[in-house]
Amino acid sequence: MGEFELINHYFAAAPCAQGGEGVALGIGDDCALLSLPPGEQLAVSTDTLVAGVHFPAVCDPCLLGQRSLAVAASDLAAMGAHAIGFTLAITLPDVGPDWLQAYADGLSRMAHRCRMSLIGGDTTRGPLSITVTVFGRVPAGEALRRSGARPGDLLCVGGSLGKAAGALPLVLGEREAPAELAEPLLAHYWSPMPQLNLGQLLRGRATAALDISDGLLADCGHIAKASGVALEVNLAQVPVSPALEAFLGLEAAQMAALTGGDDYVLAFTLPPEALAAVQATGLADVHVVGRVLAGQGVALRDPQGHDITPVQRGYQHFRETP
Ligand code: ADP
Ligand code: MG
Repeated sequence: MGEFELINHYFAAAPCAQGGEGVALGIGDDCALLSLPPGEQLAVSTDTLVAGVHFPAVCDPCLLGQRSLAVAASDLAAMGAHAIGFTLAITLPDVGPDWLQAYADGLSRMAHRCRMSLIGGDTTRGPLSITVTVFGRVPAGEALRRSGARPGDLLCVGGSLGKAAGALPLVLGEREAPAELAEPLLAHYWSPMPQLNLGQLLRGRATAALDISDGLLADCGHIAKASGVALEVNLAQVPVSPALEAFLGLEAAQMAALTGGDDYVLAFTLPPEALAAVQATGLADVHVVGRVLAGQGVALRDPQGHDITPVQRGYQHFRETP
């Protein structure tokens, strides 16, 4: 099958590529065209997943399809944007029609859940690598940034943490677990649900936000730096899922929740008076995990108030030179 046949059969014909709100022109021309309502800004973000680095080379292509869009769409959630569409630049080894169909099905499934359309891309041959660029819209000046946290704000997260990090030994086939423990962890790894509704709700309420991709402590460091404040995380308040705790034991589960990557849960700072309204919507399982103080950096505290900040705070591809 040639390149154009492949694009047409698996991608242009996919349910997610049939256009939608904001898409004036989809796949087939040199560019896609997006329409923005007056007064809105375009939010854009790109993520690349490389086989053997971000996912095992041999895996379920349908799950990979879901995950490759979810991790990218999560950045739109973190900015409080409304999702419009995405492009897919995919480098493929010699995969068969079943693989392509399953991958496209997974992609369409996640696109449907996020209400976004596949609007274009690029298809090349080589070692498996997937780059998804997402496009969203947000009222001008209202996007959630990392830079607005203020001393006195609460530090919150949009759900329990560490499930994807806990799932990693299962994904890599290094460990096994009974289905009732493995399933919720694997589900979170393979199809994290981008918190788009929560992000939109937080516009005008949260002072700073991001999506946790490299671990809570590491990512809180980005808010602390961008906002010029200190963040304090209280270990006892960090939500850990029962399945993760049953699989790893409390201490390792807490470590996964604090430093494990791939959560794609929002972390945000909120003036205390805004908390009740956010929790009342029931949109997400919002937990207060700490607070914002004057100063700099991120500290983890035990219930007695001792500083127990670990040295290793999260995942990085390229380490900073000491
Ligand atoms: P060009 O050579 O002009 O860059 P291509 O031949 O690469 O165009 O692609 C033809 C059309 O198919 C374009 O609209 C492009 O966006 C789309 N396309 C290519 N690969 C993919 C893909 N993997 N998923 C979705 N659309 C794709
Ligand atoms: Mg091209």
